[in-house]
Amino acid sequence: MATQTETKTLLRVRPRGFCAGVVRAVDIVELALEAYGAPVYVHHEIVHNTYVVEQLRRRGAIFVETIEEVPSNSVLVFSAHGVPPTVRQEAKDRSLRVIDATCPLVTKVHLEALKFAREKRTIILIGHKDHQEIVGTSGEAPDRTLVVDSIAAVDALDVEEPDKLAFLTQTTLSLYDTQEIVARLRQRFPKIIGPASDDICYATQNRQEAVEQVAKDVDLILVVGSQNSSNSNRLVELAQRLNRKAKLIDSANDIDPKWLEGVSRIGLTAGASAPEVLVEQVSERLANFGFTDQRDLDLIREDVRFTLPPELQSIAPAPRR
Ligand code: SF4
Repeated sequence: MATQTETKTLLRVRPRGFCAGVVRAVDIVELALEAYGAPVYVHHEIVHNTYVVEQLRRRGAIFVETIEEVPSNSVLVFSAHGVPPTVRQEAKDRSLRVIDATCPLVTKVHLEALKFAREKRTIILIGHKDHQEIVGTSGEAPDRTLVVDSIAAVDALDVEEPDKLAFLTQTTLSLYDTQEIVARLRQRFPKIIGPASDDICYATQNRQEAVEQVAKDVDLILVVGSQNSSNSNRLVELAQRLNRKAKLIDSANDIDPKWLEGVSRIGLTAGASAPEVLVEQVSERLANFGFTDQRDLDLIREDVRFTLPPELQSIAPAPRR
């Protein structure tokens, strides 16, 4: 139990926060605003973070869910989560100036879906059916794709050709849950094939592994991220699976002082779409609650960067963050 005089510790794990796909997507919207002027339309939230979206909105980004909402001759950015081919086609038919901020690691899954569809396989896509990424990926082969999000959903699958199956996954899933679902798929359908390499992206894996490492040393884990951020929610679930109290917070204001009662060590991380400024604000608020021993733990090295689309490279030759 914490006492009045006890030094309370905040361990901020690294890697945390922005991944390479999010850096690229946010850079694309900012550069498009610089290059073409406001407004710049963005299909869906560019990344699932309230703060990031609000900052870009203030600078002139307009977020839409359908192509119909975009006026003719406008600049339109596709979000990091990707879009189905129908949306691409609609934008093309409208002759919009499209800039694609789909994360290259999501594009990789789209290409795998196309390959499996060409092989006339039914694709079992592991992920959350309403998530924008799954809407995009399943759109590559809608007649051949079945989405599952649990072992129960695998058990309920009814497929015509069990020997012609392939599975793919959303990039931001729980490593544990996905392993279990894939194991059940292989058990039910021994001839199912999967992608050449794991679809769960490096950023999701690294942030989960970092939480796993710190969990044993803390009483509470705080994850900075928005409610609709898949990878942030998976970090909370992982901590809870490891029997640690864990909370998802969109900002420092979300911290309920009651959570800190009896807590002397907190682990802090941030989902792949949460900016560092929010981590700093959370750290400041926790210092006010007595967590003055604050340290960064470098647990896994991360140095991935993605190149910008060609149309923006000339105006941003140097890395922006
Ligand atoms: S979380 Fe992974 S897949 Fe999503 S944008 Fe970041 S790197 Fe890309």
